[in-house]
Amino acid sequence: MKYIPPKFNKLNEMAAIDVGRLTEDEARAILEGIRWPKGIACSHCGSFRITRIKAKSDKVRDGVIQCNDCRKQFTVTVGTIMQGSHITIRQWVQAFYSMCSHKKGVSALQLQRNLGLHSYKSAWYLAHRIRAAMSHRPTADMLKGIIEVDETYVGGKPRKDGKKHKSGRGTKKTPVLAIVERNGKAVSKPIGIVNSANLKSAVNEVVSRQSTIMSDDYYSYRGIGQGFEGGHKTVNHSAGEYANGDISTNTVESYFSLLKRGVVGVFHHVSKKHLHRYCDEFACRWNNRDVNDGERTENVIKGIEGKSLPYKKIIC
Ligand SMILES: [Zn+2]
Repeated sequence: MKYIPPKFNKLNEMAAIDVGRLTEDEARAILEGIRWPKGIACSHCGSFRITRIKAKSDKVRDGVIQCNDCRKQFTVTVGTIMQGSHITIRQWVQAFYSMCSHKKGVSALQLQRNLGLHSYKSAWYLAHRIRAAMSHRPTADMLKGIIEVDETYVGGKPRKDGKKHKSGRGTKKTPVLAIVERNGKAVSKPIGIVNSANLKSAVNEVVSRQSTIMSDDYYSYRGIGQGFEGGHKTVNHSAGEYANGDISTNTVESYFSLLKRGVVGVFHHVSKKHLHRYCDEFACRWNNRDVNDGERTENVIKGIEGKSLPYKKIIC
């Protein structure tokens, strides 16, 4: 098959409608450009001396590249979260774009319909692999400056008696902690129990010493500023106070309002087992909020490298 050069080769210049019209060859060229900005490098030995293998028959797949040094063959998906997938590259790129451009996320059902996938299960698995690409820990930089910390509670089945269920501290819902740099980046993850030791270790893990910690006056946050240059400042929520001069937790609260609208409105019920991936997804979109949809998609696609998430591993 003749290689057709793409009409567009940069996602950051493309709108959703263009992404939806990509051919498989165009999508592959885009992916290769993002993965190998300095030219194709062998997935096995890193050599730049490569030859493209032309797909002459059904037996040779499109996009196969041979290394002139180690003689091994590879494609753009080898060594990434996409390796071994039966979903086309065109569908993958569309799914990346879709999950990166919807503020509250996209349900697996909607992905299945939009991409024309044969099953809900494959859409669901696809979405989780994209969430894994969105995860930047543990290589991400430390958060620094004014750091707002808070926890929220998500999940839980509706009560049988139809009454509104309790919300917040002291319920059986899963606590999610968010640590948010004012005007900056966010980290969020489920935590087992909200206690002083867990909060402290979560904050110490991702926040630089040159910071000031802000939270509400919940007792488990006491002492959390220990070791930080700016110490710990609190707003007295229990007394109805929402800001005290510069001290507030408004940023972390807007982060949670987005997360909650996504989890409640789009995903309905997110199981505890997979919650950390949804947290990574929301943090990733938040952390890339100042760029356009295409650039955000490119940034996420850069995260496919060296990751894998076998289906068996996530369902067990
Ligand atoms: Zn090689």
